[in-house]
Amino acid sequence: MKTAVKAIRTLEDAGYEAYMVGGAVRDFLLGKQPDDWDVATNATPEKVKELFNRTVDTGIEHGTVLVLLDGEGIEVTTFRTDGLYTDKRRPDSVEFVQSLEEDLKRRDFTINAMAMAEDLHIIDPFGGKEDLKKRLIKAVGNPDSRFQEDALRMLRAIRFSGQLDFEIDEETLASIRKQAPLIQSIAVERIKTEIDKIFFNKNTSRSMAYLVRSGLNGYLPSGEMFNLDWSLYKEEGDHLKGWSFMLYQHEKEVEQIREYKFSNEEKRLMSKALEAARIDEWNAWTFYAFSARELAIASFLSKQSIDIPAVKSQLPIQSRKELAVSGNDLMQWSGDKQGPWLKKWVEEIERQIVFGLLQNNKEQIKEWFLHEYHRQT
Ligand code: ATP
Ligand code: MG
Repeated sequence: MKTAVKAIRTLEDAGYEAYMVGGAVRDFLLGKQPDDWDVATNATPEKVKELFNRTVDTGIEHGTVLVLLDGEGIEVTTFRTDGLYTDKRRPDSVEFVQSLEEDLKRRDFTINAMAMAEDLHIIDPFGGKEDLKKRLIKAVGNPDSRFQEDALRMLRAIRFSGQLDFEIDEETLASIRKQAPLIQSIAVERIKTEIDKIFFNKNTSRSMAYLVRSGLNGYLPSGEMFNLDWSLYKEEGDHLKGWSFMLYQHEKEVEQIREYKFSNEEKRLMSKALEAARIDEWNAWTFYAFSARELAIASFLSKQSIDIPAVKSQLPIQSRKELAVSGNDLMQWSGDKQGPWLKKWVEEIERQIVFGLLQNNKEQIKEWFLHEYHRQT
């Protein structure tokens, strides 16, 4: 917060207004230490850039400049209202405005629409503090029109309910129920980001219950899959755990949720985790062949509690790179040319070592190899 206050003082000294805003103020009032502080000001982005030595144009078309100060980055955004969201990703146009209140009015929920001055006094035109006390997610203004402006807000309400352990205000929830089909107009990337966050939530099952209860899930890709007993899901910290849990419970493959445009790395991780979770008995080879993260997800899915790093560290080797022999050695010893046999034999040696049947020692491997190779050819 010190850095944000410093940025605010710089702006104020130059004759502008500036406040901390949004999620940081909310979290601060909840007694949590916010990760990053956003500042709103009536100074234009050009002015902000003049006033600070080091800035980055992270979102200048929306009035946001990243100010680098004391090793921190503070997002400074000019007071604005949003235009229409026709591409459903970001507003088509933003209009800079002079008053803080107008800026707060464009924000989604009352608890996200508060500002805090440098002296820590709170500007709260929409009753955000009261709703924090009541632990309520409530739209700023008329929920129907706010969700029509940006339908993602419906999913954000549901995400915040689990993140904060809050209920959704009745009128806001009724509006989500009514407007649920509008979510289909939202870019899938934005939807996925919110669902990923739901899996990070402290209370994933609360968000999922709202998702299903409001009927919003019915308008999401593979939406019926969210209808599960999420009380079994207690893990935080890895969003792929959530997606994999869903697939595992429904006995489905990653292909089923391809519409969410996962990265190749995410797809690979989830398939591997599912594959490992479906192995009945894990042995040394399982611990060797799957990564720690894959096994962490898999052990959660199949409800095995194993100290994976500890078991992994007991393995004779961690990867093929540690093998004491190479394909060249095998060719030399056998006198045979490169071919499919080579891969097969390297793998066999790897297995023997991982299972502790053979020591990772060149001489011993050679002896074993020549014996077995001549026996089999
Ligand atoms: P988190 O702690 O999860 O980051 P946050 O409140 O900071 O929560 P952000 O998505 O980072 O949420 O957005 C910052 C602020 O911008 C919000 O608090 C809210 O005031 C405003 N905001 C963000 N997205 C929207 C939206 N789609 N519609 C209206 N206001 C929004
Ligand atoms: Mg934020």
